[in-house]
Amino acid sequence: MARPHAVVVPYPGSGNINPALQLAQLLRRHGVFVTFVVTENNLRRAEAAAEGAARGREGFRVETIPDGLVDADRDAQDYDLGLSKATVDHGAAPLRELVARLRGGSTPGVPPVTCVLPTTLMSFALDVARELGVPSMVLVAFGAAPLMAHMRLRELKERGYLPLKDESCLTNGYLETTIDWIPGMPPISLGDVSSFVRTTDPDDFGLWFNITEANNCTKASAIIINTFDALEADVLAALRAEYPRIYTVGQLGTMLRRSHLDEEASDGSIDLSLWKHDTECLSWLDAQEPASVVYVNFGSLTVLTADQLAEFAWGLAETGHPFLLVVREDLVHGGGALPPEFLAETAERCRVVTWCPQEQVLRHCAVGCFLTHCGWNSMLESIAAGVPMVCWPVFADQYTNRKYACELWGVGLRLDEEVRREQVAGRVREAMESEEMRKSAARWKAEAEAAACPGGSSRENLLGLVKALKEGSLNTEA
Ligand code: UDP
Repeated sequence: MARPHAVVVPYPGSGNINPALQLAQLLRRHGVFVTFVVTENNLRRAEAAAEGAARGREGFRVETIPDGLVDADRDAQDYDLGLSKATVDHGAAPLRELVARLRGGSTPGVPPVTCVLPTTLMSFALDVARELGVPSMVLVAFGAAPLMAHMRLRELKERGYLPLKDESCLTNGYLETTIDWIPGMPPISLGDVSSFVRTTDPDDFGLWFNITEANNCTKASAIIINTFDALEADVLAALRAEYPRIYTVGQLGTMLRRSHLDEEASDGSIDLSLWKHDTECLSWLDAQEPASVVYVNFGSLTVLTADQLAEFAWGLAETGHPFLLVVREDLVHGGGALPPEFLAETAERCRVVTWCPQEQVLRHCAVGCFLTHCGWNSMLESIAAGVPMVCWPVFADQYTNRKYACELWGVGLRLDEEVRREQVAGRVREAMESEEMRKSAARWKAEAEAAACPGGSSRENLLGLVKALKEGSLNTEA
């Protein structure tokens, strides 16, 4: 039987590249040949962040496609929106050419393509696969609840909740309207369904794009989700009732660590980070007391105002705890920096870096809580590391994630949208001290480990996925 060959095509942002790369490595460890497709711009960035980042290995190679943007677009404030538009408009043709070239198996040492595996937001890749008669699977780079919520945005529109009637709906309490009919989900306020509900424009691109992309997942022969069954049991049951071929294989970092443990001969993990990791912060953490450090990171896309950053900073200063604060070069709108008085006052107990190896940081015993923007990967990495969170969502699925962390999983505390230093300090102290949250976090960490162990749900699902790839039992028609 020929070796299965998956062409993995992540949406070109860290929140999608990272889990896709983890899944790709797991598949490779189980004998699947992987071609990992990144944009030319991201390959340049990864190479600049770590020399040799894109070096091929046995069973793993990197290919590129253009992202359809010119450099001026990349500096734009709405870079992510522009990237989504360009990807939709320009992604299919180069990917079609690439898959067609690899499909036939005429490239020496490369088996014929047997599966196209994009992440969410890349459904054009599912169309390309179908056109070329190649089976496909999709990796959902967020949880089952946000997937279900985003799928239901269409119905929210049909039932007249969206678009908002006028701007006043943003502040008059309308976003608190309870939505109690989303299958498998507890009653949820309209504003927590997604950030994309915050529009009065019937043709809003973000809303249209997310409705389309969430529902297009069902075009794939199988849906893979970076979550684990115990974490999202109810909503997974509801999703599986609609789409039986769902493989939950998360938390992917835990799965990858386990597979390293299982296989003594590891050839090291592959990293295509778009930013250079500051690894010295790990030595700094080594010098801190256990569970004493507040870790703060807003992910790869969030943009703050200088005032918001200052409020967060002074709030952290007030807690008296040491903290590791990640300030991306483009974190602050207009390029503002941390107040110099703050840096002087906290010099003894503050470490500021521009990007860090987050999973390692979260797993460091010195970290006591995580102030997060609630990106799915960040939240799941924190859950898998057993670290309580202080939640400040900004965009996309992050409001749903916060609801689950705070109300269902017992591992998060809310911050108001308006950042105030007193509240930041109060919530951080509470998260650092709460015995109850620490216990919940430890319980979820144990569940995540159990899912990744032999016999665990994620491990079994991964094996099932690999079996389907090896047997060629995925349909080209969903
Ligand atoms: N990340 C990292 N170092 C950082 C910040 C983020 O390695 O300093 C990684 C993080 O571990 C996660 C991803 O980048 O895997 C961010 O994804 P997430 O879904 O949390 O948020 P997004 O960036 O998509 O908003």
